[in-house]
Amino acid sequence: MQGNMMPVPLTIPFILERARTIFRNREVVSLLPGGRNQQGQPVPQRHTTTYGEVADRALRLAAALQGLELTPGDRIATLAVNSFRHLEAYLGVPSAGFVLHTMNIRLHPDQVAWILNHAGDRVLLIENVFVSMIPALQAACPTLEKIYVLGDLPEPMPGVESYDEWIMSHTPLERYPDIDENDAAGLCYTSGTTGNPKGVLYSHRSNVLHSMACAPKDALNVGERDTVLPIVPMFHVNAWGLPYTCTMYGARQIFAGMFTDGRTIAQILQDEKVTIAAGVPTIWLGLQNELDCARTAGTPYDLSRLERLIVGGSAAPEALLRGFQSHGLHMTQAWGMTETHPVATVSFLPPDIDPTSDEGFALRAKQGRIVPLIELELISEEGELVPHDGKTMGRLLVRGPWVANQYFRGEGQGSFLELGGQQWFDTGDIATLDERGYMHIQDRSKDLIKSGGEWISSVDLENAMMAHPAVAQCAVIAMDDPKWDERPLAIVVPKAGHSVTHEQLLEFITPKFAKWWLPDATVLTDHLPIGATGKILKRELRQEYRGYGSGQFPQRNDLT
Ligand code: AMP
Repeated sequence: MQGNMMPVPLTIPFILERARTIFRNREVVSLLPGGRNQQGQPVPQRHTTTYGEVADRALRLAAALQGLELTPGDRIATLAVNSFRHLEAYLGVPSAGFVLHTMNIRLHPDQVAWILNHAGDRVLLIENVFVSMIPALQAACPTLEKIYVLGDLPEPMPGVESYDEWIMSHTPLERYPDIDENDAAGLCYTSGTTGNPKGVLYSHRSNVLHSMACAPKDALNVGERDTVLPIVPMFHVNAWGLPYTCTMYGARQIFAGMFTDGRTIAQILQDEKVTIAAGVPTIWLGLQNELDCARTAGTPYDLSRLERLIVGGSAAPEALLRGFQSHGLHMTQAWGMTETHPVATVSFLPPDIDPTSDEGFALRAKQGRIVPLIELELISEEGELVPHDGKTMGRLLVRGPWVANQYFRGEGQGSFLELGGQQWFDTGDIATLDERGYMHIQDRSKDLIKSGGEWISSVDLENAMMAHPAVAQCAVIAMDDPKWDERPLAIVVPKAGHSVTHEQLLEFITPKFAKWWLPDATVLTDHLPIGATGKILKRELRQEYRGYGSGQFPQRNDLT
């Protein structure tokens, strides 16, 4: 027998309507680039609007999109920073029945074009600071029919229009299209562990459920009284879902755009009376440094309104948590992935543990406990379940209503597996789980490097370096870095009778990669450890070169 409840579909228009009606006067603040200082650096210009205006413009965007010859489910790409216009796209694109594809602005233009083509994007909303990429994208991406520039259009360009003029020439959409809650709403690409980037296609339902799961007290604790600063970019897993969560619950939102250095963030936290801010460890290290300097100078910032810093994307060291506590600031760790929307665990504490005790810090340095409706499991290399004893490591599996059940266009099938008659996603993380449910990441089986919160593909770097005529074998591994968390280290076996320098290798691969992808150092060696199946044993290399860059190993110029 079925229950007698209304099967109301969970869709993004409900989030938009809440913002348009009950939160219409709540403020949305953006720092937009407003000219340049004497050093040529962009200077932030404060822009304020309200949820009411954002919703009105989002509905104009929805109407404008419906005026194009598009088919429901078509992908609309953004290459944009965090701002109120990006929020309009978050709300307007899915509400018009299309899919919002948020693209990573930090990738090499060739990678951007590859992803655009793979997604089959038909419309691009691009920030005015990136317009120099447009001609190359127009040439490389045949499906791309319309390009609209967010912000002032610096100069007329063929096939390019102003986003503001375009949407304001339409009246707000009056009737939402019929949307099934399982229809696609958003698309994000993540770095493939082997091969090309993979797309994760979020649904309306998964977005709504994720937003509802993130808001409560023992998750991210977001409500109408909050002022939230998502420093994590809106192109990275939808800024951890915060733009939707905040809009659903009416929190005041602050978008820092391209201004994410420690000093500007400290200033925003103080001036805007931010209560919750979210970012990767690299961002927080910059902020901590700024707070330490200000305290030493006797001019500390007033962050008395700041209740919580949320850290994720990479492990938050205990020292970081303690450092912020010394400023009276509480940092909460969360774990997740592009494939999990991302929030899956949060390091909230039971009532009997003092967060500032040694035990409290040790627990908060773990990745945390599952939020409701998420399940975790650990398996051994043989596929057997591993005990949750806090000691035995296993491959971390995850399932839940906001976890992907496949990649876009059916790729990467190997990451999805059956266990006990249920489908699970294999995260590629190696972790322990303890009796109380605390998950602790120990290592990573996926062959990737995470630098400043963004992935670098070691496989892509290796392939490019192997093409050098003097290179016989090459492995790129992550080395620890105090600022970026990890940086790529290349370990190269030169061909017999050849030698090669780090600089020569960089010169060879530079045209193919964004600058921040390039290895920081190259080690020459006469062999690489190879396992029984013929694969390079990266784990052994990671152990061998642990601490590289700390002075324990000769620096790169001595090695060639
Ligand atoms: P992404 O898809 O870019 O969000 O990356 C997800 C991956 O980042 C996870 O599988 C982990 O390897 C890593 N990650 C995310 N959050 C944390 C965390 N709190 N601690 C350690 N690793 C993390």
